[in-house]
Amino acid sequence: MTDRPHLIARVRAEFARSEQEKSCHFFPLPEENSLLPSRLRAYCGFAIVPGQAETLDGPAGMPCVHCLLVAALTDSDK
Ligand SMILES: [Zn+2]
Repeated sequence: MTDRPHLIARVRAEFARSEQEKSCHFFPLPEENSLLPSRLRAYCGFAIVPGQAETLDGPAGMPCVHCLLVAALTDSDK
């Protein structure tokens, strides 16, 4: 979809309580930063704790529509 580094992740099932947490979200990766922040903030504003998240190779299950839209708009800027 893009050259821009995205991280696609969702809250692991044992931690997911809401529909939003069960959705997979798109996270912008820092361009030049090897340190993983303590919290990742998705395009939609949803914050995820890396230890409670699983990263996905691609969208799986129910994607977060807001994240999809923002990611698509961000891609078109490049
Ligand atoms: Zn989202």
